[in-house]
Amino acid sequence: MNYNSTRDKNRVVSASQAIAQGISEEGGLFVPQQLPAYNEADLKAMLEMDYRGRAKKIMGDFLGDFTADEISESVDAAYTAEKFGGENPAPISYIESGDKKMSLLELWHGPTCAFKDMALQILPHLLTKSMKKTCDGKQAVILVATSGDTGKAALEGFKDVDGTKIMVFYPVDGVSPMQKRQMATQKGDNVSVVAIKGNFDDAQTGVKKIFTNAEIKQKLADNNMLFSSANSINWGRLLPQIVYYFSAYSDIVNEGRIALGDKINVCVPTGNFGNILASFYAMNMGLPVNKFICASNSNNVLTDFIRTGTYDKKRKFYTTISPSMDILVSSNLERLLYHLSGEDAEKVAALMSALSNEGVYTVDDEIKAKLEKYFWGGFCDDEKTQKTIGELYKNENYLADTHTAVAVNVYEQYVDQTGDKTPTVIASTASPYKFAKAVLASVTDEALPENEFSMVDALSAKTGTAVPAPLASLKDAKEIFSFECEVDEMPETVLSGLSIG
Ligand SMILES: *Cc1c(COP(=O)(O)O)cnc(C)c1O
Repeated sequence: MNYNSTRDKNRVVSASQAIAQGISEEGGLFVPQQLPAYNEADLKAMLEMDYRGRAKKIMGDFLGDFTADEISESVDAAYTAEKFGGENPAPISYIESGDKKMSLLELWHGPTCAFKDMALQILPHLLTKSMKKTCDGKQAVILVATSGDTGKAALEGFKDVDGTKIMVFYPVDGVSPMQKRQMATQKGDNVSVVAIKGNFDDAQTGVKKIFTNAEIKQKLADNNMLFSSANSINWGRLLPQIVYYFSAYSDIVNEGRIALGDKINVCVPTGNFGNILASFYAMNMGLPVNKFICASNSNNVLTDFIRTGTYDKKRKFYTTISPSMDILVSSNLERLLYHLSGEDAEKVAALMSALSNEGVYTVDDEIKAKLEKYFWGGFCDDEKTQKTIGELYKNENYLADTHTAVAVNVYEQYVDQTGDKTPTVIASTASPYKFAKAVLASVTDEALPENEFSMVDALSAKTGTAVPAPLASLKDAKEIFSFECEVDEMPETVLSGLSIG
């Protein structure tokens, strides 16, 4: 199976090239040229497998130039019971009340307590194998722009991985104190972390510009290095996320809650559109899905887009209590546009150029009709997010993080407005302890303690839930990185960080 760019169908690469390179040279994203198609017998076969077996099957069908052994090795190294706190790295909590049937797919049991681990624990294995196949001997320089969770998950995945260096940029005021601490205390000989004086979109645009800067790329080449990406623009990030939707479906069938072939809805708290797009790929491969519910916070650019067909990034940017969704330019939407337009690369290139030049585009009626057919968009502000956390805790004894609560709130709006009672998988994307202040404030009326770790302890005492070990251990960890830079200093920072400036 090969991949081509969303902006130029003539740029065709193998799976390993797509992963090693991260992004196509002209700025497009790599997409599979065809998808594996699973029928009911294939879905049935998955019922018998464990998570790792399902991952090997699905990823094997996409990674054309990997051997079965290479895939097996990668999957087995990534999804260990030790790293994910149990045999199933993505367990489900079921909540049913009235018309609402929620399967909360908990994707945050990995080493950094957010769903990014599901992909970033395996990406380094896929990437180093891809580098060997396509450019043996070169060192991969991973640049990451993060709204908080990707950065830590990428650092944890790539730390001390031979043949790689990783540099993470995060918005100085745009991440939670716990996220900041997770990154600032990162260990590893090949890692660096930089705070930029801007928001996530500035970080993401800055990184994309460095990736496509010919002069900088030449400097790297002269030093036997090559840029790659661990952001969800990399196909190696999206692919592992397809797995957990099939796996969740299999688990729900095995639980006897639905019959094989029954449809589900999927509701995802969305930022860069990677996670929800993975579920869309799953449907196109044969997963029975009725509707994709795209949940946003006050940065509701996607809600407006799904409802009107116009994507307009020229709007106020809000810093919210669900910071990993504080995004106005959702990169992976480009892949959706490619598929909804009937794989029309010229159309996608024109839309993306309008977005970067004018900050806005409107899709044609064909795309709009498909968008409405498959997607439902909604949003929820901070106040409603906190109310939802409080109610879930009080009524269902379920402690949700701020991002998951946005999804639950939007799912409730969806059911109230449409009456659709289809059982719904809701992506639960982070541990509540990553956002302890907002979560604690939602479940108690008492005054909050002063510092982050006192809040973590208070949340544990109040709810009787355990603090995840990787977060508890940060309390006494030493801060290593405190460097800050301006957005336009990012290129120099990269070169000097690599000692090739
Ligand atoms: C990254 C992230 C999201 C958004 O996911 P996308 O794939 O970027 O849409 C939602 N919740 C949490 C906790 C995250 O870390």
